[in-house]
Amino acid sequence: MGTYSQSTITISHLPSQQPIRTTVHEYVGDSDGPTVYVQAAQHGYEVNGTEVLRRLHDELRERVEAGRVVAVPIASPLTFDHSSYTTPRAIEETHPNMNRVWPGDSDGTVHERIAARLWEYAGEADVIIDLHTMSPDALSHVVVTEDDDEGLALARAFGTDLALVESRPDEAGHEWHRRNFSGKLRVAATRRDITCITPELGYNTWIDEPAVETGIRGVQNVLREVGILAGDPASNGTPRLARNHLGRVTATDSGLFVIDPDVEIGDTVEAGDALGTVYDPSTYEVHQEVRADRDGTLYALTREATIIAGETLANVALPLER
Ligand SMILES: [Zn+2]
Repeated sequence: MGTYSQSTITISHLPSQQPIRTTVHEYVGDSDGPTVYVQAAQHGYEVNGTEVLRRLHDELRERVEAGRVVAVPIASPLTFDHSSYTTPRAIEETHPNMNRVWPGDSDGTVHERIAARLWEYAGEADVIIDLHTMSPDALSHVVVTEDDDEGLALARAFGTDLALVESRPDEAGHEWHRRNFSGKLRVAATRRDITCITPELGYNTWIDEPAVETGIRGVQNVLREVGILAGDPASNGTPRLARNHLGRVTATDSGLFVIDPDVEIGDTVEAGDALGTVYDPSTYEVHQEVRADRDGTLYALTREATIIAGETLANVALPLER
């Protein structure tokens, strides 16, 4: 039958020195097995992961057979309470994005201290699931680190229609380092030889039923795959494997972006395929015929029509054979 406990722990302090707390749920099976650490909302407006954990709560209380699940539904209360991706500068100016500070620093900034406190749980796990969501404009997918075969197996068990492989830190390019990707939880886990997957479910801000259901089935599948829950993984999509190359199609000018009506997220595209048009909303002059920059899977396409020069309009992932 297993045991369940929950504790609310202090993970950092506000400038006023009042404590910042979050709740940790622990589900322990009767027999030995791996530890899976699963967290949501380190980007506070990515709330579908929190809903996934709530809906799994009763099942985990009753059905964890072996090993242990440690679940943190709100990893960054700072961003959750502001319904935002990053913190207000008044609270954390140095590291507003929590997913750039792992494994944290117990003497560091607010977010570094939060990460360090949560790393006490995550860093001793065998598997980490870091639940995120993207915008409504993106295909649900799972990100894994290149050459992490166990991570890839868990990404396939999780499901969705796309598994994005990100370079290992030692092979990553300039932009990867410039954007401080070495501080992602998945990268810190890889350094520690902990298998970690980063599901990116659909939708920020909204509780979106299909995104939540994908997340529930995905977490269940991973827990079945590692033997914590009984049974075999259930159908939840078959991920195509592609490279997360950081490439993007950007706006060369500001204006209004209109997507071609026959273009959809998830399409297989070829370099040069038309995606839409950026035009001057005052004169109607066309500034840019927006085209795919490479052959691959169109996995993100902005729906925000008013765009500024330099903004990302679309992302195409490079297919990988495996
Ligand atoms: Zn995120």
